[in-house]
Formats: sequence, C-alpha cells, structure tokens
Amino acid sequence: MNELQDFWIRVSLPVVYGALIALLLWSIFSAVVALSFLLLLLLAVMAYRAKQLYKLGKWLSDARLESIPNAGGIWDDVFSSLYKMVKRHNQTKQDLAEELQHIEQATAALPEGVVSLNDANRVEWCNPLAEQHFGLDANSDILQDITYLVRQPEFIEYLHSRNYDEPLVMKAARHEDMVLSIRLVPYGGNKHLLISHDVTQLERIETMRRDFVANVSHEMRTPLTVVNGFVENLIDMPDLSHEKIRHALHLMAEQTRRMDHLVSDLLTLSRLENDHSPLRTEMVDMKSLLSEVYQDGKMLSDGRHQYSLEMEGPLQISGNREELRSAFTNLVSNAIRYTPDGGSIRLRWELKSGQPEFSVQDSGIGIDAQHIPRLTERFYRVDRSRSRETGGTGLGLAIVNRIALRHHARLLIASRVGDGSTFSLVFPATSME
Ligand code: ADP
Repeated sequence: MNELQDFWIRVSLPVVYGALIALLLWSIFSAVVALSFLLLLLLAVMAYRAKQLYKLGKWLSDARLESIPNAGGIWDDVFSSLYKMVKRHNQTKQDLAEELQHIEQATAALPEGVVSLNDANRVEWCNPLAEQHFGLDANSDILQDITYLVRQPEFIEYLHSRNYDEPLVMKAARHEDMVLSIRLVPYGGNKHLLISHDVTQLERIETMRRDFVANVSHEMRTPLTVVNGFVENLIDMPDLSHEKIRHALHLMAEQTRRMDHLVSDLLTLSRLENDHSPLRTEMVDMKSLLSEVYQDGKMLSDGRHQYSLEMEGPLQISGNREELRSAFTNLVSNAIRYTPDGGSIRLRWELKSGQPEFSVQDSGIGIDAQHIPRLTERFYRVDRSRSRETGGTGLGLAIVNRIALRHHARLLIASRVGDGSTFSLVFPATSME
C-alpha cells in the first residue's frame, strides 16, 4: 500500500464510519435523523481541521521546536514532518554559524590585513589587522567605497591601474610611522582582495643598511682623499725637500691609521652583530682585567687628567674577557678624548643594589640630553670634527652597546653639558654566579 492510499484511507475513515452509523440510524429511526447526524459529523470534522490549520498557521509564524503543537491523526504526521524539517534547518544553521566562526577566527589570525572588495570597489568585509592598517571599522564601513576610506593618491592610482603584479609600498594613513606593502588580488569575477602587510621594520632595516653603506663610504673617502692628494703631490713634485716629504708621510700615516681604526671597528661590530651563537663565557678575573684597562687609559691620558680606579666590586664575573675589555676600553678612551686637559676621570667597579657595575665618570664637555638616546647608533656623533680630531670612528658606543646586550647588561648614560658624563655598564646579579 503506497503512502497516498494510506493518506486517503486515514483522511476518509471518520467519514466512512460516520456514513455507516448514519445508515444504522436510518434503518432504526428515519432518513432525517441519519442525514442530520451525517451533517453534524461533517461539520465537526471541518471544525477540527480548521482548528488544526489555525494551530499550524500560528506555529509557522514563529517556528520553534519547543512550541510545536500536539495534534491527532493525520495532523500528527504533518507536525512531525515539520518538526524534523525545523530540526534539520536549525542544525544546518548551527553548522554554518560554526563554519563562519572558524573562517572569522582564521582571517583574524592572518598575519596580513585582508579587505574583500566587491566589483564596485566597496568593502564587503575586513579582518582586524586591516582595520588597524587602514583605520577601517568592520561594522560601519561595510559597503563604503574603499577610495573614500583610503584616500592616499598613490593607492587610488594603484587601484585604478589594474596592474597588480608589483606590490605598492605606502605609509599608513592614520599611523604616519607605519609602512605598508599592499597588493590587490582579483577573485570571483570582478572582486578583489586587498592584502596589506606591515613592512615598517623591514623598511627601517633597509634604510639603516643604505645609511650604513653611505656612512662607511663617506668615512673612508675623507682619509683616502687626503692620502691621494699627498701621493699625487709627491709624484708631481719630485724635487720636494726631505723635510716636506717627511711631513707629508707623517700626515699620510695619520690618515691610514684612521682608516685602519675604522676598518678594525667595523670588523669588530660586524663580528659582534653576526655572531648568533651563545656567548663563550668564562669567570673573568676583574682585578687583572681592570688594571689592564686602567693602564691603557693611563697611556692615552698621558698625565693630562686626574685619573683613578676604585675596585670594590666582585673579584670575578662570568663573561667574555676580550669583549669586556673592548667595552671598558672604549668607555675609558671616550672619557679621555672628551675631557679637556686638567679634568678628572674616575673608573669604578662596584656592587650596586646587588648588581656589578663598571662606570667611567668624567668632568669633560658633557652631552646635551637630546643626543643621549642616539649615541649608540653607528656613526652618530655629537660633534663630528671633535670626534675625528681625537681619532674617533663613531662606532665605539655601538660596539659597547652590542657587547652589553650579549652580556645581558645595561648601558646607562648620565650627562650634562659642561659638567661631564658618567657611562655605566650594569651587569645582571646572575653574572657573579
Ligand atoms: P666616537 O668615535 O665619535 O667617539 P662613539 O660611538 O664612541 O664614537 O661616541 C659617539 C659620540 O658620543 C661621540 O662622537 C661623542 O660626541 C659622544 N661621547 C661619547 N663619550 C663621550 C664622553 N665621555 N663625553 C662626551 N661625549 C661623549
């Protein structure tokens, strides 16, 4: 028996039974009684169905599983099919919501900003990083024209160029110091994904690299030009007096020494910066190290300063002796070079708040506060000519800073113009273990 037959049997069963009862009534009473009974029965069936229809209509207007009405007979089938349908629908809705949430979590975790643009370049959605990069609002900027939100001319030109092979590097509109690399990727017909990547750090490194090359070339050019000039003079004027030749050779030697200093500082810095292997440490005997540093300084000062060493700190710390010596010597040599004759220079090795500290205090020219944060940059000098006159390369504090980093130490600088400076290297307490 197929479903349709079953349906018709169940629908017509009350009427068939009613008709049988009516026939019985007819035989017992009369046709009027039988017909009246049949009429009443039909009216009751109609009323019952109308009521169920009403329930169905009412429930459909807010189809929730928990409020599905109770019904009898054929209506049970209808409501139970509807119940299953709504349940399936709810499940699909929940699955889709979970899927959507996964996609949202994935796009939020992307290390790039992503904006989906429709065929009219209007924003369809964007991830949180794109909100940051372009200053967008994922709720209120939906369906806004991207050229209205990101107004930089270079971006608009890029968008309209239709050639997206190369990324565009531009400044972020709302963060002047952020540099973005952006790219448009066509998808789904006429739509585009706008992908942004924060390249601020890379740009900074690239700028530093360019500056470094320019600085090194500049530093080398000056002594080379001087030496070259003397050499040409010597070639052009073979009759120069012995005295003049000696003088020229003396000046040339000075310039080549300068180049030698520069190259050796460059090599030291490059070795320190490129050595990523763990620092080779030993327990360094501070007494012998500091007396060597002190003696080197004494030779450099050559009696021009009041020069002293106080040794109160731990007798040994863990570190790389060669590097520590280089850092300490650089600080001492700076103090001597930037302190006029008659000034004082104090070297101190002490334990301060449980941390070993090496400091060099001078009564020299001092440094204006604005320069202090930049002193450890390569080739940064407050007074270029004074640095050169005293044989400076502009790399000393960059080297000290690198060595400090490798020893987990901090370089502290306190200075006032005219009053002198104190450069301190503060080592971690653990370096005494
Ligand atoms: P430089 O070879 O020029 O001395 P450094 O890196 O050692 O290079 O120092 C950077 C700059 O810091 C110097 O050019 C100088 O202007 C300043 N400086 C460093 N030490 C002192 C100091 N003790 N007193 C005054 N200025 C100093």
